[in-house]
Amino acid sequence: MAIEKSAKIYVAGHSGLVGSAVVRKLQSLGYSNLLLRTHSDLDLINQSAVDAFFAAEKPHYVILSAAKVGGIHANNTYPADFITINLQIQTNVITSSFAHGVKKLLFLGSSCIYPKFAPQPIKEEALLTGPLEPTNEWYAVAKIAGIKMCQAHRLQYKFDAISAMPTNLYGPNDNFHPENSHVLPALLRRFHEAKLRGDEKVVVWGSGTPLREFLHVDDLADAVVFLMENYSDLEHVNVGSGKEVTIKELAELVKEVVGFEGELVWDSSKPDGTPRKLMDNSKIESLGWLPKISLRDGLVDTYKWYLDNVQL
Ligand code: GDP
Repeated sequence: MAIEKSAKIYVAGHSGLVGSAVVRKLQSLGYSNLLLRTHSDLDLINQSAVDAFFAAEKPHYVILSAAKVGGIHANNTYPADFITINLQIQTNVITSSFAHGVKKLLFLGSSCIYPKFAPQPIKEEALLTGPLEPTNEWYAVAKIAGIKMCQAHRLQYKFDAISAMPTNLYGPNDNFHPENSHVLPALLRRFHEAKLRGDEKVVVWGSGTPLREFLHVDDLADAVVFLMENYSDLEHVNVGSGKEVTIKELAELVKEVVGFEGELVWDSSKPDGTPRKLMDNSKIESLGWLPKISLRDGLVDTYKWYLDNVQL
């Protein structure tokens, strides 16, 4: 079902990594009636403010990309924030969307919803079949609740709420915090700063053996619009690149893209997290969507964005 170009589309979390990519994508496709609110304009954990916003604005479509996110260290350090803030944001936005007549909502989750030892590549039906990876279970439990909220509203009220589960994302507007970010932006920054200082070594966390799948956020934004237009069902949908690399391979690639000439040192006191996290993308592929951006091209693009926008 094509969405009218004049439809009022609320992108929650539009200044973040995912939301900003969704806005770029919608604008490039000619959607002209985007509804956006910064954190200071609308605090999504404030239920009455969220409900008043929906009552006043009555968006037709909602993309729920607002969330508290972070890497392995942040998840371990702020478990209460990760579970509480995410439950609050998604509950407020989903219930107000339903209450105020939104035609369709897309909820964004994460591949960490799946059990730590799920068979790889991970199919959608692996959800809730085993224990979670402990380093991010707080965030994962909130995201699983979001999927279930969407399903429950579809079952009970026929509310057209769908969920997309992206793999590890990266790209413009990522968080480049040295400790709290995800591995890819953390390494881009660390290698860049080491190059500027002329360091001989860069420390990388863990053993380097975990496998991760990375998707450029512009590919995800493309998938989000595709699913809004082509998918309307109970089950959540994986969105990945289908390609995995070890953290060591990723570190070597980042090193090359940044142009750092020294060596890598592994800090085994830091956690590895889940050993492997590759999604099975056959569901979205069978619907007719494929990713386009290679990891190397995406890294080059993200490093350029970092140089233009972040580095001091
Ligand atoms: P995860 O995919 O949920 O485990 O989240 P991360 O992106 O934070 O970490 C992925 C993997 O990269 C883990 O094995 C980390 O130990 C490893 N890693 C290596 N260096 C870094 C770093 O500087 N920051 C982060 N966040 N992870 C790192």
